[in-house]
Order: sequence, then structure tokens, then C-alpha cells
Amino acid sequence: MSYPALTITFLGTGTSGGVPMIGCSCHVCTSTDKKDKRLRSSILVRSAKTTLVVDTGPDFRYQMLRQNVKHLDAVVFTHPHKDHLAGLDDIRAFNFFTKRPMKVYADSLTEEALRRDFYYAFSDTKYPGIPELDLNTIDLEPFVVGDIPITPILVWHMKMPVLGFRFGKFTYITDANRIDDAEKEKIKGSEALVLNALRKQKHISHFTLEEAVSMVQELKINKGYFTHISHQLGRHEEVESDLSENMRLAYDGLVLEFS
Ligand SMILES: [Zn+2]
Ligand SMILES: [Zn+2]
Repeated sequence: MSYPALTITFLGTGTSGGVPMIGCSCHVCTSTDKKDKRLRSSILVRSAKTTLVVDTGPDFRYQMLRQNVKHLDAVVFTHPHKDHLAGLDDIRAFNFFTKRPMKVYADSLTEEALRRDFYYAFSDTKYPGIPELDLNTIDLEPFVVGDIPITPILVWHMKMPVLGFRFGKFTYITDANRIDDAEKEKIKGSEALVLNALRKQKHISHFTLEEAVSMVQELKINKGYFTHISHQLGRHEEVESDLSENMRLAYDGLVLEFS
């Protein structure tokens, strides 16, 4: 089976508080450059037949409206932090139009959080209008959503295991500060790699920009894109001007095509 052509859209590229951050008047938060407006991190992955989203953060509803997404087949989760889960309730709109539960793929740690945070969606007596979920537990085994084969990659977010995902030539990793050697092998050969790059200063659970750049180099990936960006990183244009041509900051609305 050949891998389907994919279109990737960055729905959000910001860290947990988004950019601008509430109440902040720094030169990044007050920038008028659209690329300095970052919703919480998520991507839309589309083949001709299948549309899925990686994570449903607090901005999920607005991200679906902004990109005019009319159809969604599945949600795939990286890890249980609130900035990656909080918007799940809004899949109700898709339930309403399709009259079907939304397929959700999550590892057991994330599943636990979903059952706790969205307890009402899992109760025996269901109130009409609540989100309907078809929960599929994943581990490190490859799985397929519609016609899109996906390989999970285990990465570490301080002590929390997080799933990155390889979609053919494209690999998406967010919320990591460490990758074991065996998992690095799964990334090698990708044409493009997305990594989280929070800021320039060291952080306990996120790669810095420098760490993300050297990971792309170490794995010999042609194109590196950085996401989950904090206002502390600096303005998009300034930061990017210091990077080599094959390393780019992702921004909300960026589209990548893989044939
Ligand atoms: Zn996060
Ligand atoms: Zn996180």
C-alpha cells in the first residue's frame, strides 16, 4: 500500500498560555505580525479521504472555524496536559452532523485523563447533546486512521511519556525534552520534522530552540519546523532570521504538503 498524499495545517503553534499571553505587554505579545499570534498547539492532517486532528486544546473550536473544517474523522492525542485536551467537548458539532461518535486515539495515560475530565461523556445514562466518543487505546504499535497509517514515537516530557507521530514523510513531536535512541530510529528518513521549541533558556520539560535545532541536525532531517512556542522565544521574524534556511518557526495557518 502506498502512503497517501497529505496536507498538514498548523492550527496552533503556541505554548500552554498561547501568544499573546493574557495581561502581557512585552514586545512579542504586542507585535502586530500575524505570525506572533499563536493559539495552543495542534495540527490538522488531511488525505483525500481522511481528516484528523492531533490534540484538541482550549482553542479547538476557534481553530475548526478559522480553517473552515467541515468534516473530522478522528482525534489523536499526544499526552494528557490541559493545553492539548481542553477543547474536546466541542467535537459535539461533528457528532451532530454525522450522527456518529468521534473516533479518539489515546494512550492509557491520556485515556485516564479523558475519563476524568470529560466524565459526563462516559456515564451510563447520557444526557442528550454531550460529546460522543469512540475511544481507542493506542500504545507504540502503528495504527491506521481511515487511509492514513500512523507510527507512534515515544518521547519524554520531563517524566511524562508523550506520543509523537510519524505520518509517512512527516513527523510531529510536541512537548518533549528527551528522545531515547531507539525512538530516534523511527524518525530518521522523515523529510520534515516538527519539534517543540519553547524558548532559548533551558526548561525542565521542553526543548529549547538550540536543542530542537541540534536534534533536527543529529537526525539528518532536511526540514525542521518548531512549534509550542512561548512569547519568551522572541518575535517570529527576529528569531527566524537567526536560523538557517532549512529550520523554520511554524506559525498558525502554515500548510505543508507531502506527496
Ligand atoms: Zn503543551
Ligand atoms: Zn505538555
